[in-house]
Amino acid sequence: MMRETNNQLEAATRFVQDADRFLVVSHVNPDGDAIGSTLAVGQILKQLGKRYVMINESAIPQKYQFLPDCNQIRSPEDLRTEAPFSHVIAVDAADADRMGECRKVFARDVHILNIDHHATNDRFGTVNVVIPDAAATAQVLYDWVESMGLEWTQELATCIYTGLLTDTGGFRYANTTPRVMNQAAHLIDRKVEAHRIAEEVLETTTLAHLQLLRKALETLRLSKDGQIAWMWIRRRDIEATGAKEEDWDGIVNYARNVMGVDVGILFREVNEKTIRVSFRSRRIVDVGALAQTLGGGGHARAAGCTIMGSAGEVERQVLQKVASALRRVVS
Ligand code: 5GP
Ligand code: MN
Repeated sequence: MMRETNNQLEAATRFVQDADRFLVVSHVNPDGDAIGSTLAVGQILKQLGKRYVMINESAIPQKYQFLPDCNQIRSPEDLRTEAPFSHVIAVDAADADRMGECRKVFARDVHILNIDHHATNDRFGTVNVVIPDAAATAQVLYDWVESMGLEWTQELATCIYTGLLTDTGGFRYANTTPRVMNQAAHLIDRKVEAHRIAEEVLETTTLAHLQLLRKALETLRLSKDGQIAWMWIRRRDIEATGAKEEDWDGIVNYARNVMGVDVGILFREVNEKTIRVSFRSRRIVDVGALAQTLGGGGHARAAGCTIMGSAGEVERQVLQKVASALRRVVS
């Protein structure tokens, strides 16, 4: 581990030593890394004998509900009557906005420990542990557990493993380093049921997901040069299929996976004036940087943003930006 990382982890350790009660929070529409990391921090605080509450603005997708203590993740409405939290641990959130409504239960003079791996993280914390080289926030937590000499219980190992698995796309993306594989092996040694986790999070879909995918595929279009592919999820499709947030997870990959395509885009109509955009890229365009210019963020290969405007306007604006990013890199 780099000395710089060590210093940041030591600051994180002091942060948890200095208080007794913590709120653990991650980003809206949480993925496997967000949920695994939230629960892992819970397990860490439990071992340290601290009091804590885990929270997320969104409901936890069903496929993650097998994770230990997942039913203890509460919603911000649930906590309104409790005293505001003065010590918050944020995981996998690139900026404060990503925590959504959860911020309503923060105390006015809140101290935030920001643990993340997004290169676009704006260091909104009082203490920041931001490691862009890490494959997942769960990997940062892995190092933290080791640096504090905590016990690798099966529960803790399972939560960390899930974050590593999902943020590497099932150990397939470029962030699948020898270090990730060594850590995964160590976690399987600590009784993680790797096949069961893969089945729950990678090999299981809801029926609504498939129905929504069918509708989205009908809208698939390619740019003339074949390097950009995009799809739409319209409000009427969401209504017709009864799909929830979790049901459009992964659909954007079908656009990016088309042979010859570098950038896949999924547009989702939130309402008449709001469009949610997801980007995936193969190797040319840094979509994290691109999404940041549109008010969002993410990683070089996976990013997102929310844009106000009509469907037609937003589509034109985004396609233009992607096309010019492609031209700039290629020429
Ligand atoms: P997704 O397309 O799956 O929603 O998001 C892909 C990646 O981009 C994730 O790593 C996510 O954290 C990041 N991301 C998505 N939307 C936003 C956004 O609005 N702001 C920021 N900062 N990151 C985002
Ligand atoms: Mn992550």
